Amino acid sequence: MRRKLVAGNWKMNGSRGALAELDGIAAAAAGTPGVDVGIAVPFTLIAPAAERVPGLTIGAQDVHLAASGAHTGCISAAMVAEAGARFTLVGHSERRCDRGESDADVKAKAEAARRAGLSVILCVGEQLAERDAGRAEAVVAEQIAGSLPEGAAADWLSIAYEPVWAIGTGRTPTLADVAQMHGTIRRQLAASIGGGADAMRILYGGSVTADNAADLLGAADVDGALVGGASLTAAKFVPIVSAASVIGG
Ligand code: PEP
Repeated sequence: MRRKLVAGNWKMNGSRGALAELDGIAAAAAGTPGVDVGIAVPFTLIAPAAERVPGLTIGAQDVHLAASGAHTGCISAAMVAEAGARFTLVGHSERRCDRGESDADVKAKAEAARRAGLSVILCVGEQLAERDAGRAEAVVAEQIAGSLPEGAAADWLSIAYEPVWAIGTGRTPTLADVAQMHGTIRRQLAASIGGGADAMRILYGGSVTADNAADLLGAADVDGALVGGASLTAAKFVPIVSAASVIGG
């Protein structure tokens, strides 16, 4: 059975004062050993977060695909690892859509993160127009085909299915649609990496809250959640961790 993974994504939110929220999240994580918990904070908060709650897995939200060089304003995977990050997101839709990141970029970022010793959550997901056109599965399949890193394996890589239209909107797909997409992703992973696909975690992301977490986490082939807005406070995030614990812990 795959352990559930509940990861938060603070996006461009938070300051040192907000790190107090991590105390409650770290306590909840310690109290639910059957669930893996991580929080991806802004770059500037990685080191203070890792120092404040050493028992909690802290992550980055992005890394550069190069190890070093003339990339003004960018941060490498080794830099976030040195600061205390143990995982990173790659391919979040706010990077793919807003920053024009291609599947090849995302693949290279995942591989750079792996070389720096980070675990990776690789995000994929369709836009609303693509779903409405009946192309959701084809779009996600294309993203996975293009961005799955070399050496993809469950001990360092998870996939997050995040329909773009569900992120920050309060809308979620039906449970049947989530289960269908996750099943499709698992079959594609099996075709790409073989038996290792059984162990790879596929997270759902997009407007996960305390109210819908149990249903979403209970859907077939859903191995955890990537949580944006509801990860900003312990009060909203801890119940999601608890829901994962009840289902899979
Ligand atoms: C996200 O940023 O990955 C996300 C899923 O956001 P939200 O939970 O706010 O929809």
